[in-house]
Amino acid sequence: MSIAQFRAALGEIAVEDRAALVQQRSRDHYWYSPILKQKLDHVCADLVVSPRSIAEVKTVLAAAYRHGIAITARGAGTGNYGQAMPLAGGVILNLMQMNAVLDIKPDRVRAQAGAVMEEIDHQTRAAVGGELRFHPSTNRSASIGGFIAGGSAGVGSIRWAGLRAFGNILGLKVITCEETPRELDLVGKDILKVAHAYGTNGIIVEVEMPLTQSHQWIDVMVGFPDCIAACRFAEAVGLQDGLLVKEVGICAAPIAQDYFNRHKAYVRPGQSIVILMVAPVAIEAMAVFIEHHAGELLLRGDQLDADEKKRLPPIYELGWNHTTLRAIKVDPSITYLQTRYPSVEHVRTIIDIFGDELPMHIEVARQDGRVAFAGLPLVRYTSEERLEEIIAIHEANGCAVFNPHRYTLEEGGMKRTDEVQLQFKRQADPSGRLNPGKMIAWDDPNFDLTSGRAWLFSGLAPVE
Ligand code: FAD
Repeated sequence: MSIAQFRAALGEIAVEDRAALVQQRSRDHYWYSPILKQKLDHVCADLVVSPRSIAEVKTVLAAAYRHGIAITARGAGTGNYGQAMPLAGGVILNLMQMNAVLDIKPDRVRAQAGAVMEEIDHQTRAAVGGELRFHPSTNRSASIGGFIAGGSAGVGSIRWAGLRAFGNILGLKVITCEETPRELDLVGKDILKVAHAYGTNGIIVEVEMPLTQSHQWIDVMVGFPDCIAACRFAEAVGLQDGLLVKEVGICAAPIAQDYFNRHKAYVRPGQSIVILMVAPVAIEAMAVFIEHHAGELLLRGDQLDADEKKRLPPIYELGWNHTTLRAIKVDPSITYLQTRYPSVEHVRTIIDIFGDELPMHIEVARQDGRVAFAGLPLVRYTSEERLEEIIAIHEANGCAVFNPHRYTLEEGGMKRTDEVQLQFKRQADPSGRLNPGKMIAWDDPNFDLTSGRAWLFSGLAPVE
């Protein structure tokens, strides 16, 4: 491998080698996990390369193939399982310069991978009164390509489920890493070859996404005496066919009181809250529904004065992984888990077992036509052993855990190899240059995923 020869092959393409900047771009939000923080803190690339066109991406990938350089794609670097950490060093491929919205139709939008999701919505609202079906709570910074490659669901999933649900991505243009990189247009079931593959088997350069009608969503916060009452209300909202909502999230006490600096003034001690984004057409019906469920309306965005409106962040920045971020900012010892609670009774069981060790946070989403509780509980972290115990207790009680303390696709996901993605990697990245160490099936096909042992990438750049 020769980084100098690689660099020479890039011609006029923008390259950054200043140590501080390369280190900054070699980091995502892996530090959400104390375990990943310890394992990955030292990881750093050699260069950051910022292509501005498909032709430049192809030049970079051809040079990486020829000179044996690892390539880790990067959008805004908000992934929080170390997805964008360059485990083997090499090059960070920064896609944020490729950020144009290319085409807007009444029902769909085509954009370059580096387009920021809020900006896409801004343009589609102005052009056709449409918006993306859902976005992560990092809407204001995350790229659409990074969301598709590294994210899963978000604000809007209460109606539209997750990224991998059929119909939520219409098309992807992907560049392969070969001697002569190819440009592939993936549609239909081929989309699943690269969706949520952490950029291990192709670089996404363009995406086509469906739109839905846009609304001036109204932020709402509702208080309940305990988390179970909040869960019952949130589930009931999810089941209401006539109440148009974009976000339904549950935060048990004392999350709002302790961590939501600007919103805590609206919440009384001991209250658990439900955060909602409600369409104007549904707001009066929602007020009735809240009363029916004996909830206390704590905040209604359309009734705030101008100063309050300016002072408060959008309510979706209290949900999804922003809940975790706000807690970590106040108490750096906190981390979190990703779970699936099959019912309110499962939530009750987990709360009864863990109490304040696991302040409960749940996002309500649709999955296969049903209302699902996607848990993102906070964890008052004490040790890796205790975290493993908490995971085991969840599983023993019928609550699945998608471990956010692992940097591989398999361990963080369904704990099995995605054969379709592996097969595609053999064709699109035959020499394994793309994001090494993130797909166990490629690096270590014999690893036993049922062993309970954490996998360690042997090529992990050494601690300096
Ligand atoms: P990055 O972090 O830069 O990259 C993510 C992964 O995709 C990496 O593996 C990277 O190598 C790969 N990648 C990036 N661009 C490309 C490309 N063009 N081609 C191929 N591979 C590529 N996630 C959710 O799903 N829902 C949420 O609501 C949510 N909320 C969050 C809140 C906070 C505060 C934080 C820190 C994270 C949150 N996340 C959430 C995780 C993360 O924000 C999302 O996954 C986000 O969409 C990632 O976008 P990004 O541009 O930052 O991607």
